[in-house]
Amino acid sequence: MSVDLSALTRLGGRLAAKRRFGSVATVAMAIALIAVGGALALLPKSALHLRPVPAAAEAAAPAVPADPQLPELRRIMGSYGPVVTQEVSQDDGRLSVVLGHPYQRADVDTLAGDIGSAVTAVTQLWGTDWARAAVVAVASSPAEFAALTHATGNVSDQVSAASVSDPFVPGARPTGQRVVFSADAGRRLGADGLRDTLRHELTHVAARAVTVDGSPLWTLEGFAEYSAHRGENRTFAQLAPVLTADARAGELPAELPPDSAFAPGPANDATLAYEAGWSANAFVADQYGQHTVVELYRRMATGPKDGPAVDAALHDTLGLNQADFVTRWREWIKSRAGA
Ligand SMILES: [Zn+2]
Repeated sequence: MSVDLSALTRLGGRLAAKRRFGSVATVAMAIALIAVGGALALLPKSALHLRPVPAAAEAAAPAVPADPQLPELRRIMGSYGPVVTQEVSQDDGRLSVVLGHPYQRADVDTLAGDIGSAVTAVTQLWGTDWARAAVVAVASSPAEFAALTHATGNVSDQVSAASVSDPFVPGARPTGQRVVFSADAGRRLGADGLRDTLRHELTHVAARAVTVDGSPLWTLEGFAEYSAHRGENRTFAQLAPVLTADARAGELPAELPPDSAFAPGPANDATLAYEAGWSANAFVADQYGQHTVVELYRRMATGPKDGPAVDAALHDTLGLNQADFVTRWREWIKSRAGA
């Protein structure tokens, strides 16, 4: 099993990072984990019924069959210690599952409490063409995180979550999709950060089938961030503090953030790249409607590789070429940031 960790900045993951102004906040990070022969990408609360599931209860057949990856997941996690499971059955009969270890019970419970509304929120944006249920695993160590994401080598300790799936043929529904949280994600992100990160990763899960690896990260990550924060009662400055401070200082993005800007590292402000990606998608939603953000994602996620291809995608969706898009996006940031 091999994973290209240099590509760890390409698929759906999130990391926690210290923001420029000192407060610890979440930053989404793109991760691409390339597995053997393929890519790992990866209801209202009143409708939820949380219950711990003792092993004996698993024999009872749920309305929708349990995800076939669960026995293997339990086997892997079991080699790192006892495993606790929270099943969340939705009114539509679908079953989401959160797995972790006993000492992470609080994180497991938090995620189980969030999962129904996260599935609903992602479905409201993306539509019904995805599994509409989730498997979430909380790792107990970097080694277990790597095992659960098929990663080899050192995974950046800034990565707090990733979404993965089995290799699949484009057009087919991916299998083996899961969201994996790192051992310290709960401590670093807090309950609100876990909720946002879950929605971010579930967006990658939902969109995986139509997402070509190598598509622009401002689209893949920006869309997942837009989805994570959609409907939150937070201001532009709260959602994009670095971008806001820059704009108020007269610095507006000169271009859409390149993929390299999303890599975490001391010399790189990945926070700004994620905020810029979020803002590009939020701009489209604000000016063209939510439906158009999804349309733009579907078009951009086919992996346009050069300027003319991006121009064509933007033109077909929004009627703008890239230069005009950037001009309008910058003006929008400026007005939203109060710059
Ligand atoms: Zn992501």
